[in-house]
Amino acid sequence: MTATLDSATNSDSILDELRTWLSDNWDPDLTVAQWWEKLGLAGWAAPTLPTHAFGRGVARSVGVQIANEIQAFGAMGAPDGLGLLLAAPTIADHGTPEQIDLYVREIVTGQKAWCQLFSEPGAGSDLAGLTTRAIEDGEEWVVTGQKVWTSLGQSADLGMLIARTNVDLPKHQGISYFACDMHQSGVEVRPLREMTGHAMFNETFLTDARVPNSALIGGKNNGWKVANTTLTYERSGLGSGGSSRGATATPGTIAGNLNKRVGDFVTAPAPKKSSSASTPKKRSGGMFEILSGLAKGNGASKRATVRQDLVRLFTLNEIGRINGERVKVARAQGQDIPGMGNISKLSMSMIMRLTRDLGLTIVGNQGMLHGYESSEQKELSELIGNPFLPAVTTTSLYAQAPQIYGGTDQIQRNILSERVLGLPKDLGPDKNTPFSQLPKNA
Ligand SMILES: Cc1cc2nc3c(=O)[nH]c(=O)nc-3n(C[C@H](O)[C@H](O)[C@H](O)COP(=O)(O)OP(=O)(O)OC[C@H]3O[C@@H](n4cnc5c(N)ncnc54)[C@H](O)[C@@H]3O)c2cc1C
Repeated sequence: MTATLDSATNSDSILDELRTWLSDNWDPDLTVAQWWEKLGLAGWAAPTLPTHAFGRGVARSVGVQIANEIQAFGAMGAPDGLGLLLAAPTIADHGTPEQIDLYVREIVTGQKAWCQLFSEPGAGSDLAGLTTRAIEDGEEWVVTGQKVWTSLGQSADLGMLIARTNVDLPKHQGISYFACDMHQSGVEVRPLREMTGHAMFNETFLTDARVPNSALIGGKNNGWKVANTTLTYERSGLGSGGSSRGATATPGTIAGNLNKRVGDFVTAPAPKKSSSASTPKKRSGGMFEILSGLAKGNGASKRATVRQDLVRLFTLNEIGRINGERVKVARAQGQDIPGMGNISKLSMSMIMRLTRDLGLTIVGNQGMLHGYESSEQKELSELIGNPFLPAVTTTSLYAQAPQIYGGTDQIQRNILSERVLGLPKDLGPDKNTPFSQLPKNA
């Protein structure tokens, strides 16, 4: 109890400090680059990072409060994307001071955008089976191979690359982790169009791409450990729904936002300063509110199965919220709840699938109509008189993704059963077998 009270007091004082800082520094006439430079170097862009890595070392829950406060103030939030979510905390944990000063600084100030070059056509769930090779050549590494599912690779300046640096070591031991410059002729990014109509992810071909020794993160052949740090941040970030940063923009040199006026990204006029303590707690997900409203409006709520599914959705959201509170209290007491990251991610997949099925049941035949562009969505909504149809169909088309990315549902269950419940592992080759002697994909 004391720990909880202490952390509440700490978060109150840090939020007071933030409000004063925002009053002194927010200026809508700055460029995006100028604003992110101030925000990042003051430790507000990634406050959960340690203090030696442009952060403030606060708990995740306080990080969310800080992001909400920036939004409530009417200022632009931290740079969006995988740099802040994954690369920065990984480099803060494993990088040298020089690497932190270069890469993390560029991330928190939005100068560079990152992508994740992990998955390959033959290595997804079995990521350690990757075959992309990095061969040492003087002060550099020469990288050849193919990556796939590279989210936002088209707007990335750098990639978190894992590649095999020794085939004679067991498969988990001969991997290294690099910061790979995406602006070079040896890197080709080809978009893959998804059922959502967008091309968020890509396949990436590496042909004699060059990476300097100084970009090796965490040491030679130690990449599996570093990659697992990234995956842990990915699962915990995704399972908790990521952190809401309000108005923001894509960082980096390709997206073209850095020289724009920052005020143009903030739609709402700056409201009066508000304390997060006075903000009412949202007791369920936004889609629950939309779906229950739609069901009441079109009579679908008269069906018992729709009502039951609405209650299931509400219940799952509430369990997620309460579990989040449990984690918060445990962390404030210096403890952890084993497997909670995996459980949160599984729960998010279930919520997405239920939202998809329930939404399509409620809107009925209208669910077959989907506008892929926002202009089409607007026209369609007006035509059929349902402003929420795009939310339902867009969520339905995207619902397949969360059960795959960041480790599939089956893999989350394997982890929970083996590492949390202590059940026996799948049978497989001896883990000390050199990679070069393993049957393919073993
Ligand atoms: C929207 C989205 C974005 C992504 N972004 C990125 C990205 O930016 N960078 C990146 O590197 N990757 C990214 N990924 C890739 C993602 O990490 C992989 O898709 C995922 O790890 C699964 O790998 P796979 O697709 O090769 O499937 P596979 O590993 O081939 O799995 C196929 C099926 O077999 C099951 N399976 C496999 N092994 C086991 C087992 N041991 N026990 C039980 N079942 C098993 C799986 O659960 C799955 O159902 C993204 C994926 C999605 C959907």
